[in-house]
Amino acid sequence: MKIGILGGGQLGRMFIQEALKYDDEFYVLDPNPECSCANISHYTRGDFNNYDDVLEFGRDKDVVTIEIEHVNADALEELENLGVKVVPNSNIIKIIQQKILQKKFYEENRIPSPEFEIMDGSEEEIKIQLPFVQKLNTGGYDGKGVQLIRTTQDWRNLWTQESVLEDLVDIDKELSVIVAKNENGEIKTFPVTEMVADPKLNLLDFNICPADVSEETQNQIDIIAKQFINSADSAGLFAIELFLDKNGKIWVNETAPRLHNSGHQSQEGNANSQFEQFYRVVTNLPLADTDAFGFSGMLNLVGEENHSGKVKYEGLEEVLKLPKTYVHLYGKTETKPGRKMGHINVLADSREELMEKLVYIKSLVKVITN
Ligand code: ADP
Repeated sequence: MKIGILGGGQLGRMFIQEALKYDDEFYVLDPNPECSCANISHYTRGDFNNYDDVLEFGRDKDVVTIEIEHVNADALEELENLGVKVVPNSNIIKIIQQKILQKKFYEENRIPSPEFEIMDGSEEEIKIQLPFVQKLNTGGYDGKGVQLIRTTQDWRNLWTQESVLEDLVDIDKELSVIVAKNENGEIKTFPVTEMVADPKLNLLDFNICPADVSEETQNQIDIIAKQFINSADSAGLFAIELFLDKNGKIWVNETAPRLHNSGHQSQEGNANSQFEQFYRVVTNLPLADTDAFGFSGMLNLVGEENHSGKVKYEGLEEVLKLPKTYVHLYGKTETKPGRKMGHINVLADSREELMEKLVYIKSLVKVITN
């Protein structure tokens, strides 16, 4: 099969890496000729946000998919009209691309997500009570485009663009569940993972599997994952980011219609990884089992502050001496503060051992410049 991917970042790279064990051809569209996928795929230089570029790229493919959601979905719709298979479909991509449509989708499909109000740019009409979270309708990623409005003083900082204003959740835990559906309608979820964020960079820091949650919480999540995938009306692999609040209730924060950082530990931690599962989804094969092998965790290798330029990974040799520890680098030559350059997966026999290992590894490695 000719599989076309919009976006040539690390998610695409790890997908291709996994899927190369099957007999397919991988094509990538990305503006950057030095992107993570360029050297391991048939690479086309172009803009995945440009209608013509996407249409031209997709025409002769058996299936077109995405590894980033900020793509030209109108072109994907046109490809669908021309008979090209698009996974996930253009409709669900359009919904997820816009926070307002995404929130309405949760509301319409009775998927619990924090109460919200839509702001079209005029401050006076706002009724939501403090504190609340403002989320730009489009253009946000990795914590950018999200801000907390806690006090009346903060009102001054309110962005004037179209956005969602949503209730602040009193978060106990941030969780994630990855759910996949193939065209035959088969559905499988991955075990729930738990995230610990770096307060400074707002990027995912450690991701742990399985999450330490009660059976009751697990049930809430199972229901939400099913409700989401049935309502989405599309084959695909989706990462649903969740909040567990201090009263034990689960809320959907947002969903990514693609492979996700919160699933990276599945590469060695589960019977099959999110990348294998995604391959099965895209090619409509039977879905893979997702059982976890004991405890697994991941830490992102993120560019250090004040280091911009040719990358050097300090301490990696020490890390490679450790048992059940797996290094994944993304083929990016240049580091920048906060840039995701790679990750390290770790397996352990207990949650305590896992945390100890992750904290130790974090103290060993630094992503700096040469
Ligand atoms: P992004 O997609 O840019 O990462 P998110 O919507 O995931 O943005 O928000 C980033 C972080 O902000 C979340 O991981 C969470 O810690 C916090 N956050 C977002 N929405 C809420 C909310 N309604 N209540 C409390 N915290 C929130």
